[in-house]
Amino acid sequence: MSSRQGLVRVRGQVQGVGFRPFVYRLANALSLQGWVRNDAEGVEISVRGESSAVSDFLSRLESDRPVLSRVDGVEFEEAFFDESLHDFTVETSRGGRINTAIAPDVSVCADCLAELFDASNRRYRHPFINCTHCGPRYTIVGKLPYDRKHTSMAKFAQCSACEAEYRDPLNRRFHAQPNACKACGPQLALVDAKGVPENDPVGSALRHILSGKILAIKGIGGFHLVCDARNNAAVARLRASKCRIEKPLAVMVSGSASLAPFAVSNRQEIGLLESQESPIVLLKKTEKCDAELPGAAPGAAFVGAMLPHTPLQYLLFHEAAGRPEGLSWLEEEQPLVLVMTSANPKGEPLVVDNAEAFERLDGIADFFLLHDRDILQRCDDSVMRWNGEAPQFVRRSRGFAPRALKLPISGPSVLAFGSGYKNTVCATRGDEAFLSQHIGDLDNAASCLALEEAAAHLLDVLQIEPEIVAHDLHPDFFSSRHAVEFAESKGIAAVAVQHHHAHVAAVMAEHGVNEPVLGLVLDGIGLGGDGGIWGGELLQVGAEGGFSRLGHLAPLALPGGDSAAREPWRMAASALHALGRDDEIVRRYGKLRGNMLIEMFERNLNVPLTSSAGRWFDAAAGILGVIEKTGFEGQAAMLLERLAHKHGPVGPLDSGFILEGGILNFLPLFEILADMKDAPYGAALFHATLAEGLRQWLRAGGPATVVLSGGCFMNAILSRSLKAKLESEGHAVLEARFAPPNDGGISLGQAYVAMQEGIAACA
Ligand SMILES: [Zn+2]
Ligand SMILES: [Zn+2]
Repeated sequence: MSSRQGLVRVRGQVQGVGFRPFVYRLANALSLQGWVRNDAEGVEISVRGESSAVSDFLSRLESDRPVLSRVDGVEFEEAFFDESLHDFTVETSRGGRINTAIAPDVSVCADCLAELFDASNRRYRHPFINCTHCGPRYTIVGKLPYDRKHTSMAKFAQCSACEAEYRDPLNRRFHAQPNACKACGPQLALVDAKGVPENDPVGSALRHILSGKILAIKGIGGFHLVCDARNNAAVARLRASKCRIEKPLAVMVSGSASLAPFAVSNRQEIGLLESQESPIVLLKKTEKCDAELPGAAPGAAFVGAMLPHTPLQYLLFHEAAGRPEGLSWLEEEQPLVLVMTSANPKGEPLVVDNAEAFERLDGIADFFLLHDRDILQRCDDSVMRWNGEAPQFVRRSRGFAPRALKLPISGPSVLAFGSGYKNTVCATRGDEAFLSQHIGDLDNAASCLALEEAAAHLLDVLQIEPEIVAHDLHPDFFSSRHAVEFAESKGIAAVAVQHHHAHVAAVMAEHGVNEPVLGLVLDGIGLGGDGGIWGGELLQVGAEGGFSRLGHLAPLALPGGDSAAREPWRMAASALHALGRDDEIVRRYGKLRGNMLIEMFERNLNVPLTSSAGRWFDAAAGILGVIEKTGFEGQAAMLLERLAHKHGPVGPLDSGFILEGGILNFLPLFEILADMKDAPYGAALFHATLAEGLRQWLRAGGPATVVLSGGCFMNAILSRSLKAKLESEGHAVLEARFAPPNDGGISLGQAYVAMQEGIAACA
């Protein structure tokens, strides 16, 4: 029998995820000697044993790894025989420059859930139960390495029972940094708006919810505002106080079995709901949805639903179910449905601190369910959608941030400041990109400050010293101004990246593409390289950061500028005017409104042109009479998509578009839509003709690989039919999966372009 000994280096997401106990158990099972420890590079292992056992060990490091870990590489280097190794031990961490990843926050695992509802367990109904496989991570870490003293658990000294678990390599809570119990951990409190506490926090909280009160409940990455989704008055009061009149509010149920009365879900959607990341998933509403949950998602095509992801949320449902023993009640339909919406009054950042909650939610929340474990990083709920073929992000945040993306190239460290809306930031280190949590629209001072904080924190925890800064071409976005100031203060270069170029580059980055592609971007609006307002663009994007504009959608006038984006009737009028049908504008919208717009067109007053695809969608929704004014962004396109879905597939109108000199014009289709009485058929025809026009547009030539990006690709009918058409013509089609196709992915694309340019400049 031959023996073998050596040093093993494991890279990836291997700290704070139970990797050392896993190595310990594996080594013992294979009768190996040695040790394992965390260091700045990841995990280091010294191992000695029988040759075949060592080989087995090396392959199982990756194949049997803990659920939350990610292994990027295992390297083995033979070493001299060391007689001093007699057993296998877990050593303490070694410091140094940090080069490892922080895990995202994870929903309660099945083992912890079983303990939570086991009356004989010492953590029965403990609102902060967790283990190495679950619980908060990113939101409680101040800096790396991920040790308890660097988290907001530092102030809680473990009791002897918890300490013993924490020290035992065979225990599920070995080095689980947030480990605690009722005796030694964070404490829950329910207080009224004046700060007066009540007994039995969970029981009282539920009672208040069921009596129509609004509660602020502290979650993983911030507070939620919560009320009974079946109570119309409570939901209406919540909407009014949050200044959110129409936008759908997310709801939470105990388990997927409780969705049926108001939402339709398939296997994949349930998979997303029940995943450890526990996002909000957009589901089709049932016919009864608006009656079951009045006010949750009126005027919307979808309802956003999620399952509990903290023990505290589970306890509310457990209380409502009458405190049943075991887990089987979670498989049954439970009547409690909670509105669970981010506590971000007026679109400002999410509330995270207890004191801040009282101040900023004053007059909104009647009661506060809080605790003394601080949230160090604000992190909104993620929002996803199943598009018929794959999961897609609407918003990538809790559960995913700051999971790293491996890039196809390694280059200078970049800090990219993202777009002005749906802002995220992105930092790179070597060949890894770290996309921040969702920060939001930078239209208020608080969100701008949140951007600065999130960027600083990302650099801090990853110990990144940026060498290049990237930002949007639009000089007026706060993110662009701040990026330039940041670059000046550090004496480093700032690179402006065109908005739609960044959309394409984000998809190239995640698919590891480092060669030219055809980029089709269907988006809202972004500043173009020629100073125009772009948004329906066919680009050829190179590997060294450059791009050329091959074509664009025919421009439509935006009567009234920004307000046209919220009023599809204005875009319908714009299309009618372009068709020479001013009489129809007056007939539809009356003399006052109609003539006002016609005069604006005639005198060229505040009617900027845009090639935005989003505005073509608005025009279609307007001209079909689907909606005149929208209550939230993307509403018109979503309603149009739902109508098309209801109708079912139709063939395209072959004479519905003109393709000339790289410009794709759908006005001929709009001539037909304007006279159509059947809106569902019209919506289906619009989608089919759009996809056919785009297919022919892309025939013009260029690289065989096509990237589809931009906010309009949230539309599943368009993205599925176009992808199928393009693939049948021999194109490889790449879509946004790691990040949303909307502006939430812009910072990733900016970072990739700046890195490509940085490398090209040095070459
Ligand atoms: Zn657990
Ligand atoms: Zn304890």
